[in-house]
Amino acid sequence: MKIVFHSKFTHSYTHDPAAAPGRIESILAALEGKFSMIEPDPAEEGDLVLVHSRNHLERVKIEPAVYEIAKLAAGGAIAAASRACQGEPAFALIRPPGHHASPDSCWGFCYFNNVAIAIKKLIEDKEIEKAFILDFDLHYGDGTENVFRGNSAVAYHHPEGKGRTDLMEGIVGLLQKVEGFDILAVSAGFDRHEKDWGGSLTTQDYRTIGQHVRETATRVCEGRRFGVLEGGYNHEVLGLNVRAFVEGMA
Ligand SMILES: [Zn+2]
Repeated sequence: MKIVFHSKFTHSYTHDPAAAPGRIESILAALEGKFSMIEPDPAEEGDLVLVHSRNHLERVKIEPAVYEIAKLAAGGAIAAASRACQGEPAFALIRPPGHHASPDSCWGFCYFNNVAIAIKKLIEDKEIEKAFILDFDLHYGDGTENVFRGNSAVAYHHPEGKGRTDLMEGIVGLLQKVEGFDILAVSAGFDRHEKDWGGSLTTQDYRTIGQHVRETATRVCEGRRFGVLEGGYNHEVLGLNVRAFVEGMA
């Protein structure tokens, strides 16, 4: 298991909860000494336009600091996906998040759709033909859905549930029955935790989800799997939740 990380992700690039000071540090503290890390390169414009319009790029560029860090985050997802294809699972510890970024618009602290760019690049480079994206963030990844709507090569799922038990049954049940893809990507948001905005999942639940991600990838696609950080805003528990998921997935 590799953690894809760059020290620039600790910089607070704007005033939103995803960019809050201390957020990335809380995750680093929990992962420290447990996993080896690799540094990503920024995504190239040619990668970004696999998913986004030129107009969207120009609008993000209006704030150069945001454009630079968003490009590096997309590069982090690309690096994690590439590792997964080489046979080693990976987790991209990146921000800004991406699943609310559509081809020509964005909201919800997102700018470029990191996981979508990584998957599109793997398909473009003929590394894979089909992908499955599990999104367990509290919020529905409308951007990812918009990118892949009508695209039979990529399935996007955001399980819903009434309460913790129902939700976990939905996530685990989904993973146990899916098949027919070459890589399993996870939009890993931790804002459903009992001490975060969603108020439902436990830290142990994230470990369980990670274990099912590993089992599903092993069953379906020779173990190819990677995760990218989306939401998660309570710094007191975020690091422990990321660690539980990553350890489960490793
Ligand atoms: Zn969220």
